[in-house]
Amino acid sequence: MYVYADNAATTALSPKALEAMLPYFTETYGNASSLHSPGQRAAEGLLWARETVAAALGAEAREIYFTGCGSEADNQAILTGAALGARKGKKHIISTAFEHHAVLHTLKKLENEGYEITLLPVHENGVVTAEDVAAAIRPDTALVTVMFVNNEIGTVQPIADIAKVCREKGVLCHTDAVQAVGHIPVNVKDLGVDMLSLAAHKFHGPKGVGALYARKGIALVNVIEGGQQERGKRGGTENIPGIVGMAAALQEATTDLEQHMAYVTGLRERLIEGLSQIPHSRLNGDREKRAPGTVNFCFEGIEGEGLLLWLDQKGVAASSGSACTSGSLDPSHVLLALGLPHEIAHGSLRLSVDSWNTPEEIDHILQVVPEVVRYLRDMSPVWDELERGVTPHLI
Ligand SMILES: *Cc1c(COP(=O)(O)O)cnc(C)c1O
Repeated sequence: MYVYADNAATTALSPKALEAMLPYFTETYGNASSLHSPGQRAAEGLLWARETVAAALGAEAREIYFTGCGSEADNQAILTGAALGARKGKKHIISTAFEHHAVLHTLKKLENEGYEITLLPVHENGVVTAEDVAAAIRPDTALVTVMFVNNEIGTVQPIADIAKVCREKGVLCHTDAVQAVGHIPVNVKDLGVDMLSLAAHKFHGPKGVGALYARKGIALVNVIEGGQQERGKRGGTENIPGIVGMAAALQEATTDLEQHMAYVTGLRERLIEGLSQIPHSRLNGDREKRAPGTVNFCFEGIEGEGLLLWLDQKGVAASSGSACTSGSLDPSHVLLALGLPHEIAHGSLRLSVDSWNTPEEIDHILQVVPEVVRYLRDMSPVWDELERGVTPHLI
């Protein structure tokens, strides 16, 4: 048995989404900007997708802008908040220390251009509060950007409360909801955010397509200049198969969402219970305030990379955190933001399951992970020193 438990990195394409996409590669290949009928059929697909995505998010169709990925949507939202603020002399932006790099690196760029960035520290449970945000807002704050669900540890942030604080203080509010959309209820009007990013491949849509919700009245700043596509806010011939696939996948993911959430939460709870029995292990992030399918554990005395390679051999695809940082030996910036020491942050394991996973797959994970942890500890000089009391256990 081989179990794919890395759905926070990317997901398999849903057959329904694939089926919706196929005609747009072959018969309906027109350019949606063309006036002839092949072009107009493509434009109809684009319209259907925009209305479908908008309906799933509680938005209006004209508030949805398709992008080339989740990262692009994050870039565009933040650059927009920065530019709109600068026009009023506001050049301060608030975010958190455990955002995705699409956010952190965009903020770094703005910092180099003279903006002042406050990265809120994250509480030990992996959550920031609306009070933290309120306390950091200044008269010159232009934008608050806080992720909805953290991609490494799965904790859910109180976005509706944060957006409320922002509204009261006249500050724009963006959320990177890439790990939330399709997994927990996301309604832009209930949340009260001004901008929200999503990416198709995190909910069984195709890779290379995302969307940005921008409340009407927000004048987006272009990341890609070009033609009049996306109401002039994102140049480039539309990726109609991808966009249609995203809409179909989102429609599927948000149908019976409550049922899926209950099922996936059940799988996750079994993972947490099972893995907690491994001695000197620790669940990272709040026990309750978490997305249905993501767990992140630290195992003392173990190197994350070795763990992943052995798990792969034994039939489990997992991650040490963000797919973007594994492969480097730096410990995760997310775990460091929670205040974990380097030694502990090195031994982390992220398992992300969703409604495509089965109870039998959870059995397999719960059999394999403890075996591999025991094996690696038996070989580890660090573990030996911990066991002999040469160095104290930290977990
Ligand atoms: C995956 C992810 C992104 C980036 O999305 P891409 O489509 O891969 O660019 C951004 N933010 C979060 C929280 C993510 O999990």
